[in-house]
Amino acid sequence: MSYTIEAVATIRSPYTQKFGIPRQPHLVPAARCRIEFAPQFGADSVRGLEGFGYIWVQFVFHDALAEGWAQMVRPPRLGGRKKVGVFASRSPHRPNHLGLSLLKLEAVGQENGRVFLECSGADLLDGTPVVDVKPYIPFVEARPDAAAGFAAEAPPQLRVKWQPESGADRLDEAFRLLIEQSIAQDPRPAYQDIPGREYAMAVGGADVRFLIEEGCARIIAVSGSLKDANGSK
Ligand code: SAM
Repeated sequence: MSYTIEAVATIRSPYTQKFGIPRQPHLVPAARCRIEFAPQFGADSVRGLEGFGYIWVQFVFHDALAEGWAQMVRPPRLGGRKKVGVFASRSPHRPNHLGLSLLKLEAVGQENGRVFLECSGADLLDGTPVVDVKPYIPFVEARPDAAAGFAAEAPPQLRVKWQPESGADRLDEAFRLLIEQSIAQDPRPAYQDIPGREYAMAVGGADVRFLIEEGCARIIAVSGSLKDANGSK
């Protein structure tokens, strides 16, 4: 059966490229995003949502559509070496390219006649089409004792330090945290280790360059047209 759906909203996120986006929600609590609803969804469509702390956001991995999908994928958590079935993974390379993220709901608002949800802990690319939003219901959905396959523990984090004169002083606290927490996730593909390699990441309008040595990331420079930590304002 084929079925056509249309996006109800669009994500505005500080992540304008895939490199550096956290691999799951809440790994970077400082990553705020805004869900901007299409004009036909007025204030009534979100009435009551403000009483919930978290929301499920269903979206399309739009930037992976052209790459297709595979029966088996290599999750970064397994070092990019072992394969698992696509339905045993959270890979963007899946049939229908649908993603699901649990985001913290910070605020519900309206601007220029458009309803928006302000969220934190985002793992989403700027411009991601959202196909549905639902409240998270802890008594039904929280299962902390469940078997968690190859993802039983949170991934290790890198220590992060700023090199003197890297430009950190040009950033406010929220922006610094966004960059630090994003890099601490070790954005290298499948945690690859190429000593001396310099990495560049675009976040919130900033271009961030860094090196990773022995479990520690060193931020060399931050440049670009810095916005705020949301990147879209
Ligand atoms: N929490 C979601 C899930 O489980 O369905 C997403 C998990 S997926 C492993 C997260 C990664 O998807 C991010 O690190 C980023 O590289 C990628 N991503 C996020 N938004 C995307 C988009 N709109 N199109 C393609 N890839 C995207």
